[in-house]
Amino acid sequence: MGFGRGIYKTPAQLRAMIEPGLITAAALDAARELIAPGVTTLELDAAAADVIRSRGARSNFQLVRGYRHTVCVSVNEQVVHGIPGNRELEPGDIVSIDAGAEHRGWNGDSAITVVLPDPARPGVVAEREELSRVTARSLWAGIAALATARHVGDVGAAIQDSIEQSGQGYGILREYVGHGIGRKMHEAPSVFNYRTADPGPEVRPGLVLAIEPMVVAGSDATFVEDDGWTVSTIDGTAGSHWEHSVAVHDGGVWVLTAPDGGAAGLAPFGVAPVPIG
Ligand code: MG
Ligand code: MG
Repeated sequence: MGFGRGIYKTPAQLRAMIEPGLITAAALDAARELIAPGVTTLELDAAAADVIRSRGARSNFQLVRGYRHTVCVSVNEQVVHGIPGNRELEPGDIVSIDAGAEHRGWNGDSAITVVLPDPARPGVVAEREELSRVTARSLWAGIAALATARHVGDVGAAIQDSIEQSGQGYGILREYVGHGIGRKMHEAPSVFNYRTADPGPEVRPGLVLAIEPMVVAGSDATFVEDDGWTVSTIDGTAGSHWEHSVAVHDGGVWVLTAPDGGAAGLAPFGVAPVPIG
């Protein structure tokens, strides 16, 4: 089926994707450091934008038709694609930030989730931290699977298994999926967060995937809010989104959007990332 050589990058192209990955990571770090009650989601956007601009890159989200902001910020029942604005963060909020940078024609894409402390609602905070922890762990399970996968579909199976093993009954968004990444932020193939009948294309050196589980505390049913972008749960339960851009090369895998290449996240799975040579 229709996946030609086009989805696999050369070693030189993989090297060109290191810098946009690191810029994306730095932009998320800057936004994460600002997170506190009273801070607006637009302020998080501005912090990420400063980093991306100062490092000679541009937001690839602004290249998406009709989108004006640098990042997406999704709060509580919003799972993905939340538009930055004047909303002020509150104690206990669960906040997912999704960022991407384009540098010299190559792209990075990554997302994190942060839960704000709330001494008045320790139970809510604990539930949301668990949701974020399970989502992040499923991302790392998917990346670890990629290190030995034969087909892209093995990644989604590992993500689904990891989420189900939590025993929490969480929902996995099915209408939104990960993707290949390179010259464009969104390229073939699709990277599902669950098992599919089609195994997908072969995993071999040159493959670069943005792996991004989107997990909710309740039903996976979502709707798009009136702003035309924000994806929220219908039952109002919280969502979490974690994402990394990951390269497969001759020596192994390297997480482009993690400054340590994914060493810390992959360690529990017995996988060591290998720098791109
Ligand atoms: Mg993203
Ligand atoms: Mg993505």
